[in-house]
Amino acid sequence: MKKVLVLGSTGSIGQNVLDIVYHNKEKFKIVALTTKSNVHLLQKQIKTFSPEYVCITDKVDIDFKNKTKVLYGENGLEEIIKITKPDIVVNAVVGICGLKPLLCCIDENIKIVALANKESIITGGEIVKNKLKKSGTKIIPVDSEHSAIFQCLRNESINNVKKIVLTASGGPLFNKRKNKKMSHSVESIVNHPVWKMGKKISVDSATMMNKGFEYIEAHYLFGIPYEKIDILIHPQSIVHSFVEFVDNNVIGLFSEPDMRLPISYAMMFPERLNLNIKRLDLDKLNNLEFFLPDYKMFPLLKLVIQYAKISPSYIIAINAANEVAVNMFTNKKIKFKHINKIVQDVVKKHKIKKVSAIEDVFEIDSITRNYVNKILDKI
Ligand code: NDP
Ligand code: MG
Repeated sequence: MKKVLVLGSTGSIGQNVLDIVYHNKEKFKIVALTTKSNVHLLQKQIKTFSPEYVCITDKVDIDFKNKTKVLYGENGLEEIIKITKPDIVVNAVVGICGLKPLLCCIDENIKIVALANKESIITGGEIVKNKLKKSGTKIIPVDSEHSAIFQCLRNESINNVKKIVLTASGGPLFNKRKNKKMSHSVESIVNHPVWKMGKKISVDSATMMNKGFEYIEAHYLFGIPYEKIDILIHPQSIVHSFVEFVDNNVIGLFSEPDMRLPISYAMMFPERLNLNIKRLDLDKLNNLEFFLPDYKMFPLLKLVIQYAKISPSYIIAINAANEVAVNMFTNKKIKFKHINKIVQDVVKKHKIKKVSAIEDVFEIDSITRNYVNKILDKI
């Protein structure tokens, strides 16, 4: 029986994790759950899974009237890892708040980190990689593309890789690209054609910032140079990514788009779970399409690819600017087009800093957030 802690259990990934656990009670036991503020859903999850501990990072005082112990505040995410010492931590919070818990897992030698939170690996970069060398922790990606690459690379040497090709659905705007009157309202942007996801990643998908982040995520997770990573639009989301080797053989991963697949793969590693989900309909393979990305339509994708190669300092600044801008957009304080404007502005003004410790990451993050908050008035 594997003891599981879910950071961000009330989110889209978190709820999928709990669905898997619910149907596989003999394999997994939930020891702890966390939310930012969705106490109502957390309460239901406590009733179903009886965790020993929960953490609410926003200060909402609540008496759950049962045995579950409650921690509060963002430090609670690290505390709950140290207290419960689970076999698996699923990191499914959204944003850079996932970085300290990831580093804590590595320090605590947690066996498996099922990593959905991409903001942590892209901002933590080399710091995460260096810590991993001295730890027994294994990170298994949950992001579907990275899970695909991870599976394609099993028992393969990274030196034999010619190219990694990350596929991208193209997001909600890709299919509407010929329609000049397409809506950029929060509702239409958050409504992804293939995946049902949290608000932030849905917006990142529409700007394709998400694919830029995944490009960096692949670089750090697999230790592969940026030059060897390509991106290809594949609207059907059946081929989740592929790897081309030096002998020109190509291995790809095909499945129905369902996040329970990469999540269960990470949680069961190195075994596989007998999942009761839709099988791949082979007829669909007749209609698979692949396109090169249109960088004019998705300027943020181009920007991330260009600046990630220059310095990790840019990655942290871009991530911070994007987090603030997306939050303002989903709260209807700015328009969709302003996300691009804000991130471009931050990149122009950014002064590169050396990133060698976690303090450097949070310094750049905080300077950038302050800057974005100042320029918001002028938008
Ligand atoms: P959601 O917004 O649906 O859920 C996020 C979870 O984190 C919620 O439990 C939320 O609590 C909690 N949370 C939000 N902010 C904070 C904070 N500051 N401190 C602590 N907890 C917080 O996101 P998703 O599940 O869609 O995504 C989670 C991560 O996984 C993201 O990094 C995303 O990029 C990545 N990912 C997601 C995929 C998907 O299909 N959804 C696919 C691949 C990667 P509350 O409910 O109270 O807001
Ligand atoms: Mg993905």
